[in-house]
Amino acid sequence: MHLNPYGGDAVDLAADLCNRRPTSAEELADRCREAGLTLERPAGPEDLAYALAALDAWEKVVDATDERERAELANRMLAASAAHPRLTDHAGDGWHLHYRDEQLPLGALLFSLISVGTALHLVGRGMHRLRRCEVAECATIFADTSRTGRRRYCSHRCANRDAVRRHRARAAT
Ligand SMILES: [Zn+2]
Ligand SMILES: [Zn+2]
Repeated sequence: MHLNPYGGDAVDLAADLCNRRPTSAEELADRCREAGLTLERPAGPEDLAYALAALDAWEKVVDATDERERAELANRMLAASAAHPRLTDHAGDGWHLHYRDEQLPLGALLFSLISVGTALHLVGRGMHRLRRCEVAECATIFADTSRTGRRRYCSHRCANRDAVRRHRARAAT
């Protein structure tokens, strides 16, 4: 099974890992597996360190203040992690493109997957479609894969919370 970078899976995984950072290599590996990633080797502490560094870089892409800065930061991630594209059928379930070298350890694989997935998400769906929840005290990161591209909240819960608050604010005036 593969993460489909065009489908937003890689950005969703990045957001999930960023919002709740893994604290051990085992947890990192488990959560990657849950997201559909095939791990070819066990993960170690160096994978966790590498992944956390990738998430730090990614968080800067999320918090970029304009499109140019966002593109610049995403390009830096690509330069540090991606390889030339290549066709692969490593799992025997269909040919697809990898933008990374074969046999990478999990940390480096994640870095590449997140960089490429984020770049494809931004150019494919819109440069603005990566953000934090509008509820200030929430700040959860999400990738906007909605049809309209105007998603503002991480969850229904936050959307409702903000709606109630705005309603109260109006009622008070
Ligand atoms: Zn693959
Ligand atoms: Zn939220």
